Amino acid sequence: MPLAILLVLILIAVLIAPWLIGVAIAAAIAAAALYGTYLVAAAVIAIAALVVAVAWVLITGNSRQEKPEEIHGERKACKYCQVEMAASASRCGSCGKSSP
Ligand SMILES: [Zn+2]
Repeated sequence: MPLAILLVLILIAVLIAPWLIGVAIAAAIAAAALYGTYLVAAAVIAIAALVVAVAWVLITGNSRQEKPEEIHGERKACKYCQVEMAASASRCGSCGKSSP
């Protein structure tokens, strides 16, 4: 089972940054020699969780960049001159007529 987890970690590492493979393998071998299989498995799970967290932050960060477009939806056009203004505006800045 720890081998399967390690393979998944390596697969994720390949997708994100190829140099992580060497670091992960070296860290796993060193940790296995020093502590043992179960601690290595725990460490691999922790690293995998970290990688997933970083990937999640990157995905969430990309979706946040699209949100400023929603500000466009909070605007309205003047009933009289069709000039765009803030949805909260009570009076048109172009023609000066009050807008509902
Ligand atoms: Zn107007």
